[in-house]
Order: sequence, then structure tokens, then C-alpha cells
Amino acid sequence: MECRLKAKKCGGCPMLGLDYAEQLKQKEAAVRKLVGKYGPVAPIRGAENPCHYRNKVISTFAAGPGGKLVSGIYAAGTHKVLPVESCLLQDEVLDTVMQAVRAAASTCRYQPYNEDKGTGLLRHCLLRRGVVSGQVMVVLVTAQPVLPGAKNFVRALLAEAEKRHVPVTTVVQNYNLRRTSVVLGEEEKVLYGKGFILDTLCGKTYALSPRSFYQINHDQTEVLYGLAVEAARLTGKEVVLDAYCGIGTIGLTASGRAKQVVGVELNRDAVWDAIGNARHNDVKNARFFAADATQWITEAAAAGQRADVIFMDPPREGSTPQFIESVARMAPKRVVYVSCNPETMARDLALLTAKGYRAEGFTPVDLFPQTAHCEVVGALTRSQKSKG
Ligand code: SAH
Repeated sequence: MECRLKAKKCGGCPMLGLDYAEQLKQKEAAVRKLVGKYGPVAPIRGAENPCHYRNKVISTFAAGPGGKLVSGIYAAGTHKVLPVESCLLQDEVLDTVMQAVRAAASTCRYQPYNEDKGTGLLRHCLLRRGVVSGQVMVVLVTAQPVLPGAKNFVRALLAEAEKRHVPVTTVVQNYNLRRTSVVLGEEEKVLYGKGFILDTLCGKTYALSPRSFYQINHDQTEVLYGLAVEAARLTGKEVVLDAYCGIGTIGLTASGRAKQVVGVELNRDAVWDAIGNARHNDVKNARFFAADATQWITEAAAAGQRADVIFMDPPREGSTPQFIESVARMAPKRVVYVSCNPETMARDLALLTAKGYRAEGFTPVDLFPQTAHCEVVGALTRSQKSKG
């Protein structure tokens, strides 16, 4: 596949030069090399459409030739903005929405923020699309609290979007006054609509606000969660722990087949989202806690709490030896490990298997075609001689 941005050092698609079938082969082999000694690795689940899968786009504003407002991504390893009109990974509707945002911002004579001088107004634009709902959120990140002529901007944006036949459901201004490469600041103002969009994943509906964590590849996330819940072999009687639960998606997907779901997540905003998501989906058997997963499970295990199944979906750094120690104390029948980094998964598997958990098997799922990353679902069961 060809991409003009690659030659300009975009860096976003390191595997683009390879056929998709070859990419899958390489990812599967890499996973097998890392975790194969613990159990069989099933064929990788490839994406039906390996392009345009990103339902979230972040664009950075800059001044182009003649002072024209452009937006795009930083070239690899630099702070130089590479203007992007379209991208092979991004949802094509969002590319068009971004054109509308640039057109409206230019009409309002908004200036891009200049990192070195600390001048200008517009820093970034974050776009998100609910793949099932079709709803689109526009988040304009500004370098000052006041967006002059905000009403005119919204009016212009809606008109530009309509002209291009794309929807804009809500518009939020986020201000980030700090000199940082972190995109979003703490403060937000809803300029139009409700400030969130809805999307449906595995039969549950989620409200996504600008800062909610949400998997970027909708269809492959359904494959991933489907495999994870299947691996849990729930019968409706189980107490299920969803550790590192984000906005509660895995636990809520499993909730209809479990007695009780308990989710634990460090990020407080995500936990609030999880609680709201349970309520809106009328899920009554799920509770969520804002805590460090290791600390929470250690205290829960010491207090004699038990879980029949533990889902764990840690960040790239993986879990901790103390977390795994406490898993063993809780002695669940099954552990379903969902990993975005097979290297740390392999490290954690050494500890889990030493505690008497046996890996039944692993299934890699390609959530990130054209990049080197993939996810893995691992199903583990507690063997008789486990050392809890
Ligand atoms: N299961 C969710 C999120 C997975 S990403 C999903 O599928 O969408 C990993 C999550 O772990 C993130 O939400 C992150 O905020 C959370 N996290 C990171 N460190 C943590 C810790 N020490 N304790 C609990 N959660 C943590």
C-alpha cells in the first residue's frame, strides 16, 4: 500500500510496506515466540478491513505556507507538524470533519498556537466517531480559556460539515494552558450538543466524553472482548473481577453471564464513566472502584474476598508480582489475561504459572493493522496443585 506521508517521516505505519497477510504472520510468530512455551497459540484474528479503523483522531494545528492554517501529526521524533488531509488509518468521515474544522477555524481567523513563542490560539483538535451510532465529537484544544466568537465558530463548523455531508453531534472546547505535549487540559466547556457521544460495543451502549479511554478499533475490539468473555466460560453464578477495567467495557460485556462484576481502575474519570455506563445499560450487578489494582486486590484478598474469574487487562507495563500473588490468594478458577504487550504478558505468565495456573491457550487479535502492535487473550485455569 502507498502513503505519501510515509516518505515524509510520518512514522505511524511501520508495517505498511508489508502485505497484510505477511503482517499477520509476523505478529503471530512474535506472540508465539514470547508466550508459546506456556500454551498453544491460535491463529491471529486479522481485521476484515486493515485500513481506516481509527475512530479517534488527534490533529495538531500549525501555520502552513502563506500563514494558512494546517493540521496534522508530528513527523516521527520531531515537533514539526506534517499536514494531513487523509490518513490510511483514520476513519474517513473524521478526515472530512477535520477539513470542516479547518475551514471554520480559518473563517473565524483563528491562529495556530506556536509552541516556541507561546503565541496563538488553537493547539489540537480531537475527533471521535461512534462507529455504530454515527455520532461525531469535535474537541478544540485552545491555549487560552476564551475562544473569541465561539458561537460563530460552531455555526461555521456545522455549515462546513453539512456542506461535506458529515455529522457533528457535539463540540467541546478544552483549554490546555500548560507548555506540554499532553494534548488535553483539565478544563472544558461544551459549545454545542451534550459534550459526549454514544457508541455501542458488544451490545452495550457507552457515553464517550473527550477524556474517556475507549479502544480505537471498534470491530476488532468486539472480536477481542468476545474471545475474552468466551474464555471465562461463565455460567451466571460467578463473581467476576475486571481488573484495569477502564470504562468497564469487559466487565459490562460479561455482566449478563455473571452473578456479580467488580471493576477496578486507577483513572477516576474512567470509573465515573463505568458507573454511568452500568446505569445506562441497566446493569445492576456491577460495581466499580477507583484504586490501584495491586493495592485493591491485595486488600481484598487479605479480607478474604473471593472471585471465581479474574479478567486482567493491564497497560503496556503489565501487572505486578504482588497483584499476581493476590490473584493466587483469591484462587479464581480462571484468569483471563488480555494484553496489549506480549512481552510483559510473558513476564507475568512466568509468575502466574509458578502459582499453579495453567495456560489453556492464547489468541492474538490484530487491533492495530499497519503497526507493530497487537492484543492477546490468554485463558488460564487453576490446576489442582496450585500454590495459593
Ligand atoms: N479494560 C479496558 C482498559 C484497558 S487499558 C478496556 O478494554 O478498554 C488499561 C487500563 O489500566 C487503563 O484504563 C489504565 O488507566 C488502567 N491502569 C493503569 N495502571 C493501573 C493501576 N495501577 N491500577 C488500576 N488500573 C490501572
